[in-house]
Amino acid sequence: MNSARDARTAIVGAGLGGLVCARILQQHGRRVTVFEREASADARLQGGSLDLHADTGQAALRAAGLLDRFRALARPEGEEWRVLDFADAALLAHQGPPATGSGRPEIDRGQLRGLLLDSLTEGTVRWDRAVRGATPLADGTCRLLLGDGTAEDFDLVVGADGAWSRVRPALSPAVPRYTGVTFVETGFDDCDTRHPDLARLVGNGTMLAKGVGRSLVAQRNSNGHIRAYIALRAPQDWHVAAGIDLGDQQAVRTHLLGMFDGWDESLRYILRHGDSGLVNRSLSVLPAPHTWQHAPGVTLLGDAAHLMPPVGLGANLAMLDGSELAHALVAESSVDDAVRAYESIMLPRSNEAAINSAQGLDRLVPAAVLTT
Ligand SMILES: Cc1cc2nc3c(=O)[nH]c(=O)nc-3n(C[C@H](O)[C@H](O)[C@H](O)COP(=O)(O)OP(=O)(O)OC[C@H]3O[C@@H](n4cnc5c(N)ncnc54)[C@H](O)[C@@H]3O)c2cc1C
Repeated sequence: MNSARDARTAIVGAGLGGLVCARILQQHGRRVTVFEREASADARLQGGSLDLHADTGQAALRAAGLLDRFRALARPEGEEWRVLDFADAALLAHQGPPATGSGRPEIDRGQLRGLLLDSLTEGTVRWDRAVRGATPLADGTCRLLLGDGTAEDFDLVVGADGAWSRVRPALSPAVPRYTGVTFVETGFDDCDTRHPDLARLVGNGTMLAKGVGRSLVAQRNSNGHIRAYIALRAPQDWHVAAGIDLGDQQAVRTHLLGMFDGWDESLRYILRHGDSGLVNRSLSVLPAPHTWQHAPGVTLLGDAAHLMPPVGLGANLAMLDGSELAHALVAESSVDDAVRAYESIMLPRSNEAAINSAQGLDRLVPAAVLTT
């Protein structure tokens, strides 16, 4: 049986889950390499603001010895929530910032990823190393197949490579399916100066307005940026059916304005005036429950294991997975015992969260008029 103490671990994906796992393994003197397909840490903008929950994301950062550094960057005022009436933008519900908040401060995803990357020994992440697949071997190790045609063997391969994981097929035939909801994303720079009315509408945190099959979510990030999601309950190819080329921003905008006819003009501003264009993102999920037959030498964490709708849990759970897997590898004497212990807790937890998240998406973008 492969000893956990001497194990060579490969983590596929330098997302939040994979990086937490790598950090904790390294704190305990374990050998770990992260394979990341992106060319560098700043190859791509990392996306919006995340609220980290005490019992998941924050617990993982505490375990990684990074909670104080997180708190120094976090925005507790970003916990503010507003729900507006779509027809006249009247305030329907409001949750204030910290004093009445729920202890889930916000942080930009890019800042959080930077914090984790900085905590690793130089050279831990091998950038520009896309993984093609993983093959468990008869001796309990696992072969990692790289995009350049080479292969390397490890005692444990961890698929932390997100929604379209290339490691997942080693364990499960499941593939993500479309949820029926698409987010069209846009952003506003320097909002207090350039978009002051929108800045006032959104406040310090998140603003939500809902109609039937349509929602608008706008969220303040750091540096005066607002990121907004135009949520549509629509076929995945809605733009094809509408005869729209997604590259034609004016055509997308005109079509969306038609879909939000009857909404207050202060909200329709989001459709008209984004600085960063309109980016179509269809939302997919893995089936729930998603589980697999345990196999030695390979496991999954985060979205690779349990892709669910984006209602505020996915990153938190990915980080908790990474922390728990690393701790199991430190606590157990064999790699296999560690992976079994981790999977026995992670799989039931994530199945429950996936069911709750599906309900959360239905509340975020209601398919019918809500009676409550
Ligand atoms: C619009 C939106 C808003 C969201 N908001 C929130 C929120 O507020 N709170 C929250 O908790 N969650 C949120 N989520 C969910 C969250 O983004 C994910 O659950 C989380 O990022 C999963 O982390 P991960 O580490 O598993 O994977 P990822 O963050 O997807 O990281 C995977 C990494 O693997 C790399 N990779 C992929 N394939 C390969 C390969 N073949 N070889 C090598 N590397 C590879 C990728 O480049 C990436 O760096 C949101 C999601 C969306 C879409």
